[in-house]
This record gives sequence, C-alpha cells and structure tokens, in this order.
Amino acid sequence: MKKTISVFGSTGSIGRSTLDLIAHNPDDFTVRVLTAGKNLELLAAQAVQFKPELIVLADDTGYAQLCDVLSSHEDIKITAGRQALLDAALLEVDLCVGAIMGFAGLEPLLNAIKSSKAVAIANKEPLVAAGRLFMETAAKAGCQILPTDSEHNAIFQVFEPENKASISRLVLTASGGPFRGWARDDIMAATPAQAVKHPNWSMGAKISVDSASLMNKALEVIEAHHLFAMPEEKIDVVVHPESIIHSFVEYQDGSVLAQLGAPDMRTPIAYCLAWPQRMETSGERLDISKLSTLSFENVRDDVFPPIKWAHEALRSGQGACIALNAANEVAVAHFLNKDIGFAKIYTIVERMLETYSGREVHSLADIISLDKEVRIASGNFINL
Ligand code: NAD
Ligand code: MG
Repeated sequence: MKKTISVFGSTGSIGRSTLDLIAHNPDDFTVRVLTAGKNLELLAAQAVQFKPELIVLADDTGYAQLCDVLSSHEDIKITAGRQALLDAALLEVDLCVGAIMGFAGLEPLLNAIKSSKAVAIANKEPLVAAGRLFMETAAKAGCQILPTDSEHNAIFQVFEPENKASISRLVLTASGGPFRGWARDDIMAATPAQAVKHPNWSMGAKISVDSASLMNKALEVIEAHHLFAMPEEKIDVVVHPESIIHSFVEYQDGSVLAQLGAPDMRTPIAYCLAWPQRMETSGERLDISKLSTLSFENVRDDVFPPIKWAHEALRSGQGACIALNAANEVAVAHFLNKDIGFAKIYTIVERMLETYSGREVHSLADIISLDKEVRIASGNFINL
C-alpha cells in the first residue's frame, strides 16, 4: 500500500529534501497536497512532477499566474490564500510533513494533526509557541508525532518511552554554527552573508541565522521539552562541531544512547517517511574513519545567551516562549533585510522576554494574539 503524503512548505529546504526522497521511491508514496508560501515557479514544477490532487499557494497574489503556468494540467486543483492553506491541512493523509517556516505553520499543523495518521514535524516554531496545545491535540486525535529536526529525531530513535522515568538527561548537540570560536565583537558585527554560511548543514535562511546566534538550539531545547515531556533541567546542550552525533539520551544506569549519521536532513526525513519501517536512501554514508576526530565543548553562554534564555522561558511559562520565538522571527527577518545588525537580534529578544515573561495564555486565540502583540512591539523596536 502506498502512503499518502502532504508536504506543507514543499518549496523550502526540508520540503525539497522530502520530495527528493519521494522521487527516489515512487512506488511507496502518493503525494496528495503540496503547499508553498510565494515560490509559484517551483511549486508548479513540483506539481507537474508529483501530480498531487491539490496545490496551495499561501500568498494569493500569485494565484492567477500559477493557474496560467499550470493551465494544461486540469487534474491538479489549485487554491491560494491563508484559508485555503488551512483547508488543505484537513485533507486526510497517512503522513503530513510540516516544513513551513515559522509560527505561520501552527494552524495548518493543528489541522493536519486532526486529519493525518502521523505528522512529521520539522517546523519547530509552533512547538515553541504552543507546545502543550500541540501535543494535547495530537494525543486527543491519536496522531503520531514524528520529530524530524535532526536532534529530536536522534532522540526519538533511542528514546525508550517505557523507561522514561529512568532517563536522566537529554543532550542536544549543536554544531556551534559559523561563529564558533569568533571574538564577540566580530560576531556582533557579522553580516547576513556570514551568518547564513553554515559549516555543516544546508538550510533555509532563517534557521541558518538561528544557528549562528544559537537561537536555533534555544528553540530546540523548548521543542525537546514538549516532544518528550522532559523537564527543562534535564535538557542540556553540548557543542559538537562535526555534526555526526545528532544527540544523546542518558539513562540512570550510566548508558548513553545516541544516533549518528552524516549531516544530511534526508536521513531524519527518511526515518519519518518510512516510520515505523526503514527505507533505503542514496544520501551520503557516514565515514566511520571520521569518528576518531569527534570533539565536544561547552556553549559559550556569555557570548551566546539564547540557550540560557530558553531555560528561563520554560521556567517562566508559555508567554515567555511565545515572546522568545516571535521576537526572534521579527528580528531575524530585519537582520536578513539589513535593517539591523546581528547584535540587535539579541537586544530585541531580551527586551521582549523582559516585557512578556509571565503573560498567561489559555487558548489558541490567546497564543495567536500574544504572538501578534510581540511582533508589533518588536517591529517598533527596530528603529530605536
Ligand atoms: P525554508 O525557508 O527553506 O522553507 C520554508 C517553506 O515554508 C517554503 O516552502 C515557504 O514557501 C513556506 N512558507 C514560508 N512562509 C510561509 C507562510 N507564511 N505561509 C505558508 N508557507 C510559508 O525553511 P526550511 O529551512 O526548509 O525550514 C522549514 C522549517 O523546518 C523551519 O521551521 C525550520 O526551523 C525547520 N528545520 C529546518 C531544517 C533544515 O535543515 N532546513 C532542519 C531542522 C528543522
Ligand atoms: Mg536541529
């Protein structure tokens, strides 16, 4: 039986890797839905190749042009706009791949949870902002959440749910990003081109900047807290520049389990696509001789404060997590646009954390409203 798949954010880095794996295994998957933000040319090309029932362009200004490009493909339904995106997430599939960038993926994912047997979640920002609601919705719907972020996928592969009480620590590995070892002043003056130049991973622009600031690892601490229901004090981070060990789970008997692999997102994505089985991929194989050069070091918390902020935010509550994420999304977009320098990303996030920590949220509407409020406040801070 072929698995039916939807890919939300199919034109991005994760989306393209997902479709590459599907293209190599055409007998195993049927693509039902593909969605993109703005990139209608690539979405159209993917539609021609994978022949989904439905494609959605979230930015409806490109709708007419997309219809025009695909005018000879009448069997593919085309919709556009935010509501169309939310409706598409209600189509039943065996597996939905959540690869939208940012908080914008939250509502589509919540819909997908209700209509999919499983959701592979790369899109970490919704978990950071709404982790509890997200996991409760999945439990209620009986939807299997498959962590796709490489660290969380590694943990998922060696996490023994029946022995959860015996887990003493989760240790997330961090490459350290492009600024590992740089002097503080050089980091704070870094350009977008320097920040997106990741040493090991090829990723979308926003997550690449997050990797440079170590905000990505901060988001991942919060993500791990929700995905594995682990208290924040049992989640640690270690810098591992080679990105071969993708994370560790430490048990109380002294055993430490880890998952290893070449730094290629197709490995965790393939794990999710094939789950609960395994599939063959053509990706790079781990060169075991490289294992003799694995190294580890502590995070320089004095230079890179986000991981400390993530722990504080988890202790403080959901308002702080929403503020951390929303402020960072706004600040990174302005940094990529060259409106602000790298240092200001930290200034804005810290200011928003001070302002919004302690704010309580009780519903999806509260979460969306606080996210919006923090975005406006962060935007007002850009020119100060
Ligand atoms: P990307 O920027 O390359 O792609 C994002 C996708 O989302 C694109 O298809 C884009 O069109 C779509 N999109 C963007 N804004 C949208 C909106 N407002 N509405 C609807 N669609 C929208 O990003 P990426 O690097 O593929 O990352 C996607 C997610 O996966 C992020 O949350 C990221 O943190 C996470 N992730 C990525 C990697 C990686 O290697 N790239 C690894 C782990 C986790
Ligand atoms: Mg990761």
